Amino acid sequence: MSKIIKLISIVFFSFSCQNNETPVNQQSKIDYALIIHGGAGNMSIENVTEESQAEYIAKLNEALNLGLKILEDSGSSLDAVENVINLLEDSPLFNAGRGAVFNHDGINDMDASIMEGLHLNAGAVAGVKDIKNPISAARAVLEKSDHVMLSGKGASEFAKLEGLEIVDPSYFYTQTRYDELIKTLERDDDDGSILKLKKMGTVGCVALDKNGNICAGTSTGGMTNKKYNRIGDSPIIGAGTYANNSTCGVSATGHGEFFIRYSVAHDISALMEYKGFTIKEAAYEVIQNKLLPVHGGGGVVCLDAKGNYAMEFNTNGMFRGYANSDGERVVKIFKD
Ligand code: ASP
Repeated sequence: MSKIIKLISIVFFSFSCQNNETPVNQQSKIDYALIIHGGAGNMSIENVTEESQAEYIAKLNEALNLGLKILEDSGSSLDAVENVINLLEDSPLFNAGRGAVFNHDGINDMDASIMEGLHLNAGAVAGVKDIKNPISAARAVLEKSDHVMLSGKGASEFAKLEGLEIVDPSYFYTQTRYDELIKTLERDDDDGSILKLKKMGTVGCVALDKNGNICAGTSTGGMTNKKYNRIGDSPIIGAGTYANNSTCGVSATGHGEFFIRYSVAHDISALMEYKGFTIKEAAYEVIQNKLLPVHGGGGVVCLDAKGNYAMEFNTNGMFRGYANSDGERVVKIFKD
């Protein structure tokens, strides 16, 4: 008898799922979850002071708290990702928004992208110099335009029309980042290789909301001393950012040229979709087995529809954090 009741409830359950426009993550215990990064690089315990480590940890926790609150209050993963990244962009600790690195001409020149995993909609901006929060401009492109990526002055014009805050470029200046540019110019041997990847600070976030929707976003100033309007992986859907409710959400950080060439974010999703990899296996395969042998330094944070996550990197460290509705929380900088 109990078997019959079980069978009826399974049939009813599958039927109600098919009629739900928003696929709810029924199998998971986890209602919502959030994963973030603040850049990967070759930092070591010796060259990051305890005071500075504490500052980063505090900011990562603040970002996780903000994201959890939005998700707890039934906010969308899109809202969580935008707001969490806004907080990190506003902090001079990270290479995004205020505190972005300088390009060869001494200008902060930023890229960002965002993608949602229900309809695979995406938005991105590249080479923007006066939008206070580039991730918000990326979201506006996703929601309010017919396009996926806008760049330079056009992106600023669009952001202004959408009512986003435009600032004087001096807003993004920080002495630390400027000094980094001067040092790099003096060395003049900056090939950005894995051995020298010290320019950490790109920010990213992936969130899973109560409706089972995944969103991923990434925001960056790119790489110090970049020239010729170079654009990295962060605003490129499939390279620096990707989200698909049926696989996972990914935000990347590292030497962008490699992340573009290896389609890192989409490759992780594809390994799950076509090969049945778990999120941890997929992230490991791409970061350690594909990128490391070619000296493509960096890492990813990923989250699937059940709240499973991966924080994979092939550098010495990656500022990172994960938290979910079950009260689990991880915040780390260096390798385990
Ligand atoms: N991926 C970024 C870029 O290449 C930089 C970083 O994540 O550190 O522009």
